[in-house]
Amino acid sequence: MIYLTTSVRQFGMTINGETVYTKNTLPVINPANEEVIAQVPHADENDLNLAVHAARAAFPSWAALSVEERAQMLEKFADAIEQNSEELARLFTLEMGRPYQGALQEVSGAAKTVEFYAKQRLPREILQDKDTHYVEKYYTPLGVAGLIVPWNFPVSLAVWKVSPALLTGNTVVLKPSPNTPLTTLYLGELAKEIFPKGVFNVITGANELGAWMTEHSGIDKISFTGSTGTGKKVMQGAAINLKRVTLELGGNDAAIVLEDADPKKVAKPLFWAAFLNTAQVCVATKRLYVHEKIYDELLTELVNYAKTVKVGDGMDPETQLGPLQNKTQYEKVKGIIEDTKRSGAKIVLGGEIDESKPGYFIPITIVDNPADDSRVVVEEAFGPILPVLKYHDYDDVIQRANNTIYGLGASVWGEDLALARSIADRLEAGTVWINEAQVLHPKFPFGGHKQSGIGVEHSLEGITEYTNTKVVMIRKNK
Ligand code: NAD
Repeated sequence: MIYLTTSVRQFGMTINGETVYTKNTLPVINPANEEVIAQVPHADENDLNLAVHAARAAFPSWAALSVEERAQMLEKFADAIEQNSEELARLFTLEMGRPYQGALQEVSGAAKTVEFYAKQRLPREILQDKDTHYVEKYYTPLGVAGLIVPWNFPVSLAVWKVSPALLTGNTVVLKPSPNTPLTTLYLGELAKEIFPKGVFNVITGANELGAWMTEHSGIDKISFTGSTGTGKKVMQGAAINLKRVTLELGGNDAAIVLEDADPKKVAKPLFWAAFLNTAQVCVATKRLYVHEKIYDELLTELVNYAKTVKVGDGMDPETQLGPLQNKTQYEKVKGIIEDTKRSGAKIVLGGEIDESKPGYFIPITIVDNPADDSRVVVEEAFGPILPVLKYHDYDDVIQRANNTIYGLGASVWGEDLALARSIADRLEAGTVWINEAQVLHPKFPFGGHKQSGIGVEHSLEGITEYTNTKVVMIRKNK
């Protein structure tokens, strides 16, 4: 049963508080049926210049407001997201493919995140106060923040950046992925009614728009979430005027299941750790290492649970997992499945793609103990194919888990919490969970080690990434 309408009205960009359309447009495709559902603005360099100019012009007066005044507007923005959550979630499902209930949860979560940020304050710290000197440290905004977001969590990843940037007194130019522009354009419309002109700009265009942003001399900071390959280009582009960068990049998270874990208990949470959002999650479990003593039983439990999960159009309330978001991703995952078959590794579930119907659907695919150097183990698939790998020795599995260029997240599962903790301490990753995965909160810093990123988002530490650290030192006349 399909229960929501699929019509989409026209959306424009938000530049200097105005709605802006362009002559050229980009199509938006519904990944569940490959139909074009909308055309959105295709910004050129001139449009970017207008947005940056507006953001620069708005910066001094925005930065001059008190943090309380800026926070009040963020509170209003949070309310506006919540009040419009159903329409935002509908657009989200249409453009991204995520089942509607999950989309709705993400939108509500995004509203709560904005609200959370509105309550945060960076400290002013007196570093020294003695006879001769008074020294104080505080934080000043950077200027214009360029925010570049991918397609897998278009609403939450946008507000993770917008909220700390605005709170600390920066103005923003926000660019969604060309694959999922609708929800972000909607956020721009909501913001237009709340923030002063030029403070919150949203522009849409092709990937080259992101590259222009990273090189733009009028932008002072890039906060980027996306793949490691693109992250490297962002860093190069940002070097031109030494922009500050925060890079949240790819991951190839390992989950290690200890010998004392109960397969019946952990199979379901492990399934969702790997396959939530059709595995299009930076911190999805992408390599599952299971102790040989429980390997067979856990693999069976995992496959049995996976068989109960419904894959389909996200507009159908029965659907638990939607399609992949775009054709590039679909082709990539297809290629990994073909490579896995060629390698002779055993696929115990899925692996057969029905290409007779439209939509970027790939069935849940589980691979039994492929080689450590196979594509399905080494690469970030970002799609519903999970390698399950057998191990017998903890030192060895830690070494295998760490043998990757990535270091975003990891998890350890089992009853012996002291052992799990000792393993967690040896895993090279920004966040390690024990007996759960993918749990994030804006009060905890989130970022990658190694080639999974630079800097962190969330927490006071993440907020400072939108600021300069400033010290004022007074020599007293004594
Ligand atoms: P992507 O790198 O292709 O694109 C991300 C964004 O960058 C898009 O807005 C895109 O238009 C823009 N872009 C493309 N080329 C650019 C360039 N040369 N310069 C500047 N911007 C450019 O990534 P994607 O395919 O949209 O997203 C999937 C990737 O994102 C995965 O690797 C995933 O792990 C990663 N991701 C990381 C996190 C995290 O927090 N670490 C969160 C979500 C997704």
